[in-house]
Amino acid sequence: MRKPILAGNWKMYKSFDEAVQFVEAVRDAIPSEEKVDAVVCAPAIYLPTLVDIATETDLAIGAQNMHFEDEGAFTGEISPAQLASIHVDYVILGHSERREMFNETDEAVNKKVRAALQHGIVPIICCGETLAEREAGNTVKKVEGQIRAALEGFTAEEVFHMVIAYEPIWAIGTGKTASADDANETCGEIRKVVESLYGTEAAQAIRIQYGGSVKPENIEELLAKEHIDGALVGGASLDVDSYLKLLEAGKDA
Ligand code: PGA
Repeated sequence: MRKPILAGNWKMYKSFDEAVQFVEAVRDAIPSEEKVDAVVCAPAIYLPTLVDIATETDLAIGAQNMHFEDEGAFTGEISPAQLASIHVDYVILGHSERREMFNETDEAVNKKVRAALQHGIVPIICCGETLAEREAGNTVKKVEGQIRAALEGFTAEEVFHMVIAYEPIWAIGTGKTASADDANETCGEIRKVVESLYGTEAAQAIRIQYGGSVKPENIEELLAKEHIDGALVGGASLDVDSYLKLLEAGKDA
């Protein structure tokens, strides 16, 4: 059985003090890592402090983006080597907001996945369709293309350590969630793509999250589905109580 993974994506929210208070409040209250993986992906400038506060607890800290080069003249960027040097455990890659607003390409996502693995950072690889693509019946085509590109050139063993987040773009921050059946169906299609590329074992091992307006009220139904192994959560991960409720649901799934 795959262990559920609940990851908060804070995006560009929270002051430093609010971030510290959040992690202090949740680190002792979270369920054991044996049952659920708890991750908070925070703004980059808070990461060293949050990693320190969460050390030796069951809360993991992640970044929201990174460059694929270890170092170089890339003003304003943060490298995988730098993230690894402060012991960041996870990184979100290819979020639709980065693809849409910061021109992140499939090719760059693929390079970033490789760089993350080289530094022992677990990549959370995002994919998802726009409303127009869904209405045109192109959901699977879009998502399959993104996943094939992101996963190109790895070994099955490497794929075991990846996390995929299926996030329909029309469901992000809109209050509209894909129905649990729809989300499960697309996550199942993603698993088939992984199987066709890397075999059954890798497909059964890789964890696939759903993301897009996940909240305590809908998490249980989503996690009950065969192919949904957790969630990538924006808005509902900003509040301590709400985030803890999501983790409880993950623990019981
Ligand atoms: P949301 O964001 O939960 O606020 O819809 C999800 C995400 O962008 O990862």
